[in-house]
Amino acid sequence: MIKDKVVIITGASSGIGEATAKLLASKGAKVVLGARRADRLKQIADEIAKDGGQATYKELDVTQQSDNDAIVELARKAFGRVDVMFLNAGLMPSSPLSALKTDEWHQMVDVNIKGVLNGVAAVLPEFIARKSGHVIATSSVAGLKAYPNGAVYGGTKWFVRDFMEVLRLESAMEGTNIRTATIYPAAINTELLETISDEGTAAAMQNTYDKYGISPDRIADVVAFAIDAPEDTTINEFTVGPANQPW
Ligand code: NDP
Repeated sequence: MIKDKVVIITGASSGIGEATAKLLASKGAKVVLGARRADRLKQIADEIAKDGGQATYKELDVTQQSDNDAIVELARKAFGRVDVMFLNAGLMPSSPLSALKTDEWHQMVDVNIKGVLNGVAAVLPEFIARKSGHVIATSSVAGLKAYPNGAVYGGTKWFVRDFMEVLRLESAMEGTNIRTATIYPAAINTELLETISDEGTAAAMQNTYDKYGISPDRIADVVAFAIDAPEDTTINEFTVGPANQPW
């Protein structure tokens, strides 16, 4: 059931996170929005409130453990608990390895990997103590297959797959029954391509997205589906892409 669940969403200031926040709030969830652009979060929270939903927000840099702890604290203060942690913040500054954009490699590791670790560390004690909770993460089709120009991005998303699968297995073994869902989107029309600084990669990706990109609302739909499943059920993995996707 979605109604009244308290859902933290990282990367909620645009794209998939924004679409998911709006959909879940429309179904009665209490959403807690995090990202670095607080002005965008405020605007989205205001829109949700105007439509009769419940939302609060906090500036969050997922690379900082203290920021992740603070947003969990905000959720407890505003709504009493956390039911779902949607670890969605991410960057995709893809490029060929030969371009040696090492700062961007490290940035992707910090946000896409360490951001997930920090978010889980912030919420796991409550989920373990209560023996319930739901962790949802946005991986990528690049977490399932290797793509040229995507060595580091793909690596961070393969990490998410492994991490989420082990979280599911260990939770079952330890009897805490934490539900998990990992989402593997393909081409989704968001602001993600704006993080690509390599001109050749940016142009090729834009061409692909122009042909195949679909709405972030499609990802919001599967997040809602995973949350709405009966409490004794984990619907674990979703690959979501355009119907005309040839790769
Ligand atoms: P957007 O660029 O629209 O959204 C990315 C979100 O991540 C923004 O809200 C951004 O907010 C946030 N973010 C980035 N860095 C940080 C940080 N350090 N701390 C907190 N928040 C941060 O793209 P998408 O909606 O597409 O991306 C969402 C997720 O989906 C990402 O993990 C991405 O890798 C994944 N994905 C996307 C696909 C696509 O085709 N679009 C395909 C496969 C996976 P802010 O800048 O305000 O901090």
